[in-house]
Amino acid sequence: MKIQLSKFISAMNYTETVEASIDMEEIKLRGVSYPIRKKETFPLVLKNTGKNTVSWEFQTEITLGIPCDRCLNEVSYAVILNVMEEVDFEHLDKTDGEFSYLDDKSLDLDVLIFDEVVPKLPSKLLCREDCKGLCPVCGTNLNEKECGCDRTVADPRMAAIQDIFKNFKEV
Ligand SMILES: [Zn+2]
Ligand SMILES: [Zn+2]
Repeated sequence: MKIQLSKFISAMNYTETVEASIDMEEIKLRGVSYPIRKKETFPLVLKNTGKNTVSWEFQTEITLGIPCDRCLNEVSYAVILNVMEEVDFEHLDKTDGEFSYLDDKSLDLDVLIFDEVVPKLPSKLLCREDCKGLCPVCGTNLNEKECGCDRTVADPRMAAIQDIFKNFKEV
């Protein structure tokens, strides 16, 4: 959703609450797509707070589908956003990559939400504390069933130790 800011920039003390919504269906980051499973419309309060200065404020929650770090099953992950910003459009400096969600005199809410969500993404997420993960040999989800593969050889460190034992026995 794009919000036109002209009147908030020019009209002193002008304020309005907009029913805001998120258009995007996923958060795409470094080639990975995290689907947005739940989002809601929310009130976005816009205000002129001085000459060429506009503030916006909102709270919302979105739920993303993020793969478990071990078994890749999708885990629901809720992100709570609490945003309050004030921008002076007369001295707006976009050179350092900030304010990428501001385009001339409009605010691209999806870009702003994206910028807010990314730092809140977990670096590692498990579907459950004791997730058994995938079998490194055949790819079976070990939470669902035991495939019976000999997985000790799949770990190169373990293989090295086994070799040492083998050599030891041969001596
Ligand atoms: Zn898992
Ligand atoms: Zn297996």
